[in-house]
Amino acid sequence: MRIARVSVPDIAGPVFGLVNGTKIELIKGHPFAELEKTGVEFDLDQVKILSPVLPSKVVCVGKNYADHAKELGGEVPAEPVIFLKPSTTVIGEGDPIVLPSQSKNVHHEAELAVVISHLCKNVDVNRAAEVILGYTVANDVTARDLQESDGQWTRAKSFDTFCPLGPWIETELDPTNLAISCEVNGEVKQSGNTSDMVRSAHEMVAWISKVMTLLPGDVILTGTPAGVGPIKNDDIVEVTIAGIGTLANPVKQGA
Ligand code: MG
Repeated sequence: MRIARVSVPDIAGPVFGLVNGTKIELIKGHPFAELEKTGVEFDLDQVKILSPVLPSKVVCVGKNYADHAKELGGEVPAEPVIFLKPSTTVIGEGDPIVLPSQSKNVHHEAELAVVISHLCKNVDVNRAAEVILGYTVANDVTARDLQESDGQWTRAKSFDTFCPLGPWIETELDPTNLAISCEVNGEVKQSGNTSDMVRSAHEMVAWISKVMTLLPGDVILTGTPAGVGPIKNDDIVEVTIAGIGTLANPVKQGA
């Protein structure tokens, strides 16, 4: 199933639906309980696709692909390194990434995102699938110059619009062998496979849940392959993951 959150003409507020080809059928309520279809269907081009969830937190794994750790001038850490992006970084398919005036070097990072389905804590790795609703595409937008100058990553990772997510959540997906790529203005910049992750999506759900309680809708970004690089005003950034789809966002210079 592909679950999207959309706004629809003449219906107040965002609603969830199931995407099937070029159509979307709305469901009642939210996708964190038993799904109930409504029979109400729209063409996808009649609706605006929003970020598929509004997470309470976005937990990110740093340096989870060896080739990316190397390009940043480091080794893969012995223990996972995690950091947070605030919920206010999240935007959806087609929404602009706004470049902050404080940075002169903002980078794209193509990432597979895990969407959590249940409140959970201390999840066993063999049961991680039970707390995962599905997977979506993410861009862990990063102010690389501030990441270096600040000595820690909060500001560099946390500007509004720095976490594009979408276009939808794919619920039936094996996350261990998926092509993942990023194009800027149609030119391939990153091209990898989730099989090159140092620690799998399931391992990271288990590991992070031993640190903090995860809530329905929380998102885990699982790291980026090599090839990160700058994005500029008027660029179009497209992150594609096999089996899910493409997340496209324009880039705009902010004030
Ligand atoms: Mg990242």
